[in-house]
Amino acid sequence: MQSEIGNKKTRLVILGGGESGVGAAILAKDLGMDVFLSDYGNIPEKYVKILDNENIAFEQGGHTPELILNATEIVKSPGIPPTAPIMQSIYNKGIPVISEIEFAGRYTDSKMVCITGSNGKTTTTMLTYHILHKAGIDVGLAGNVGRSLALQVAREPHKVYVIELSSFQLENMYQFKANIAVILNITPDHLDRYDYKMQNYVNAKFRIIRNQTTADALIYWKDDPVISEQLHHIHTDARMLPFTDNSFEPFPGFEGAYLDTFGKIVFDTRKGEMEIPTQELSLKGKHNLYNSMAAGLSACLLNIRREDIRRALEDFEGVEHRLEYTATKHGAVYINDSKATNVNSCWYALESMPDTKSTVLILGGKDKGNDYTEIESLVSRKVKAIVCMGKDNSKLLDFFTGKVPRIFNTHSMQEAVDKCVETARKGDTVLLSPCCASFDLFSSYEDRGRQFKDTVNAIKDN
Ligand code: ADP
Repeated sequence: MQSEIGNKKTRLVILGGGESGVGAAILAKDLGMDVFLSDYGNIPEKYVKILDNENIAFEQGGHTPELILNATEIVKSPGIPPTAPIMQSIYNKGIPVISEIEFAGRYTDSKMVCITGSNGKTTTTMLTYHILHKAGIDVGLAGNVGRSLALQVAREPHKVYVIELSSFQLENMYQFKANIAVILNITPDHLDRYDYKMQNYVNAKFRIIRNQTTADALIYWKDDPVISEQLHHIHTDARMLPFTDNSFEPFPGFEGAYLDTFGKIVFDTRKGEMEIPTQELSLKGKHNLYNSMAAGLSACLLNIRREDIRRALEDFEGVEHRLEYTATKHGAVYINDSKATNVNSCWYALESMPDTKSTVLILGGKDKGNDYTEIESLVSRKVKAIVCMGKDNSKLLDFFTGKVPRIFNTHSMQEAVDKCVETARKGDTVLLSPCCASFDLFSSYEDRGRQFKDTVNAIKDN
């Protein structure tokens, strides 16, 4: 492999010893660069082993400025905020800072399908990967899910990559180009990282279309007010493929996806049309209709056979902790949506619940400044009981008391599930879709979701 900037004098310093950082280090090593990796915290054992085996110089438990500030270029993990002290010294010295995706993108000509949005990224990324993989395409999964893109480019290259990109990852991308860019939706999230200015967050998301030409495509949700507004203010050469579930009359030259009057999704591209009845999609709920439309359009653009797309949209098993069916106990269905860490994603989960008062909703955790009015009317229409589960439930109790027939105050998973067993009747749904981060009682949303599943599965059957 040849490096454009890689000669012995290029010193690439990588900040962060996780999946992306270690992958970048390996690619840089293969390119013959002088590589150094530094992590302020502890590097997981598995990555320490890899760095040792690869003979890559690294440090952990702190940054040594002399070993960092002599870099030609820095690859920064998306988790490190630009306000970190070491970043200030780097900016003061004028050293360019890029992301692992930007770095890896320089050394591959493979097709890049890149997916961003405030909610639905992982689901859409996995679904797109599933369609391509099942169709026999040589495809890799990268970004927030899967393996490091840099590692794959270095050691296990693929013809196509499906990449989940958060706004943090997009921040340090400059020359990278997405052949297919997907923007699912934009709602306020992580505003603490953007000076509490929504526009800064929107700008970060829209970096996904940088460098796109007429040969590239942008797939986006047509009815998202934030996306529509931003599209009025920018110019792009990319082919535009909106998707919508509102009533829509396609016009000559239209490309995108919509629902016809018979409830079928129509995928319409220059290659022709393809239809799939919504009830045949394996992922349920309005939000997943959007995710399926976005993934299906990407596949159409990559010339996947209609039959393959249809079959894959029908047999995708979903992603853990996202509206994941857990078990049926005493006739009530238990669903794990632990990944719903903001109010908007809970809104979509509730939206997909039946229109009767048959849902028992588990809410709570670390509140990120939530405004629960967004879900208030869905809750009053669909929820028979709320089980608050958190260290401090006062905000939830204040907001919802009197708005649902029953509300409970619990402080552990076992206590919460016990209340659900007591409350749920045959035909009801118990939904864990907490609107909040998990860190008050759990180590992560995955930990919360797994504890939920274990506790539910342990419910006695009689
Ligand atoms: P992300 O990777 O963007 O966090 P996920 O696919 O992990 O998104 O889904 C997170 C949560 O967001 C899910 O639990 C689901 O309830 C909700 N969600 C999924 N897709 C969408 C969408 N298109 N719009 C709004 N909410 C969604």
